[in-house]
Amino acid sequence: MESAVSLHSLVKTFGQHRAVDGISLEIPRGIIFGLIGPNGAGKTTTIRMILDIFRPDSGEVKVFGMPAGDQVKDRVGYLPEERGLYRKTKVLEMLAYQGSLRGASPSAARQEASDWLDRLELAEWKGRKVEDLSKGMQQKVQFIGAILGKPELLILDEPFSGLDPVNQDVFKDLMLDLNRKGASIIFSTHQMDTAEKLCREIALLNKGQIVLGGTLSQIKSRFGKNSVMVEFDGDGSFLQGLPGVARVDDYGQYREVRLLNGADPQALLRAAVERVTVRRFEIMEPTLHNIFIEQVGGHVAHA
Ligand code: ATP
Repeated sequence: MESAVSLHSLVKTFGQHRAVDGISLEIPRGIIFGLIGPNGAGKTTTIRMILDIFRPDSGEVKVFGMPAGDQVKDRVGYLPEERGLYRKTKVLEMLAYQGSLRGASPSAARQEASDWLDRLELAEWKGRKVEDLSKGMQQKVQFIGAILGKPELLILDEPFSGLDPVNQDVFKDLMLDLNRKGASIIFSTHQMDTAEKLCREIALLNKGQIVLGGTLSQIKSRFGKNSVMVEFDGDGSFLQGLPGVARVDDYGQYREVRLLNGADPQALLRAAVERVTVRRFEIMEPTLHNIFIEQVGGHVAHA
């Protein structure tokens, strides 16, 4: 089966700056795919080329096996990074209009938009102007705009930014539901925990290039099980100096210790029980967060 999106040696330059520097990628149909990377990595620029908003300087974009462009536009829903809505327009009017642009009859578009507003608990806001809604509510409305007409491919640029935890969950559940019903989903984020929970596959971008890609399980097994979570009472400053310890991340309630290749976790446990009261000791896969930091370096603004 054709991929949802295939990118071949994609390059996009702004002035002297190569925002996207030779990206090749196959995104299968039917999965949730995460484009992850630090600020300025080239995620939005890549998305804009997939949507034919930007033309690449060189390279090729295919969506469902066809060149990006008008013939596939109706099959793709898009939540842009900038949350531009027609502020003076009434919520339901605006969505009904958007739905009709996708080819639905005016009454069907209105009905679909209205159903979604009900489902996302915005029923009482249907007749209000967009500008009266909070930022999070506007984002929900814009999300509805992206999914009207059941697009086969959904491209969401930073869908979770600016949302409170409740609404982040609403968006997450909605994405899972749409995916289960057959939609392919590509979303960009620098929130590693969200990517980890949702994505079957990811591509990690840095400085316009893919530095890591594949299924999450492949990526994690490549990085090995050499992380240890230790929870204890006492002063944990000794951990950083122990032989075999590559780095220690302090999460307050516990520490995540990344071991050097070949180091023995049992030796770490022995050293720990000599010095502190260990409450929990667990050998685990590295988190995507730590893989990200290791690949991209520590100079990353956290979401
Ligand atoms: P963020 O997570 O911060 O949104 P991103 O990974 O989406 O980042 P892009 O928005 O694709 O990154 O930007 C990649 C680089 O290209 C940045 O250095 C940015 O300044 C530059 N860039 C993007 N769009 C333009 C443009 N229209 N004109 C000039 N430079 C641009």
